[in-house]
Amino acid sequence: MNLVALPAFSDNYIWMLHDGRQAIVVDPGDAAPVADALDARGLALAGILVTHHHPDHVGGLAALRPRLQGDGTRVWGPAREKIPAPFMPLTDGDRVAVIGLEFQVIEVPGHTAGHIAYFLPAGAAGSPVLFCGDTLFSGGCGRLFEGTPAQMHRSLGRLAALPGDTRVCCAHEYTESNLRFAAAVEPASADLAAYTASCRALRAAGRPTLPSTIAQERAINPFMRCDAPAVIAAARGRGVTDPSGAAVLGALREWKNQF
Ligand code: ZN
Ligand code: FE
Repeated sequence: MNLVALPAFSDNYIWMLHDGRQAIVVDPGDAAPVADALDARGLALAGILVTHHHPDHVGGLAALRPRLQGDGTRVWGPAREKIPAPFMPLTDGDRVAVIGLEFQVIEVPGHTAGHIAYFLPAGAAGSPVLFCGDTLFSGGCGRLFEGTPAQMHRSLGRLAALPGDTRVCCAHEYTESNLRFAAAVEPASADLAAYTASCRALRAAGRPTLPSTIAQERAINPFMRCDAPAVIAAARGRGVTDPSGAAVLGALREWKNQF
């Protein structure tokens, strides 16, 4: 199995998993990069996974449907969101079987109310893979457009509990700006300094900083570290009196919005 990040728009990635014959793609906001990648590699499109309803994640669906194998029902998405029909609606704990792989659905509300993530355990594709849309970014998390800090805190907690070697496939290249904020939260973190240097080198070489790993995010992502003493102290410095994870996350998110 090959895992490929297809750049789209200014900073989106459309993730593709393929076995040399068949491919699935995640969140095709634009059809053109997907069509180009399928044609260049001689791949058939076997399925489309959608994490949430935003246009930069579903905008390419209509143009890609004619390329889908089978009866056109091989589009999966969150049951609680308005995705261009037809699609197979998914809720927490559902499984998606496609190209010999079985994904587990995890509901991760916060960025949007019905956002889902797709987790592929270790197996045919190698180490585990997570397609997390706009919930978890390397060094950050999605804006809270439809959900609460408590929801996002719980959602990120569920993702943090996945195996450390899980490859984290986020839908945007926001890493460098997230790491500038993370350094304001935890200026003394050596892990953060080392990771920032490696990400800068990747970007300078024109390469994605993704996938990250769950272990990496647990070490450096302030939104996954709301129970770390240094992160709680930084939130207290911003006026937070309640040290609960949800309150700390809410304070970080507001701080980041203005950063
Ligand atoms: Zn979004
Ligand atoms: Fe997005």
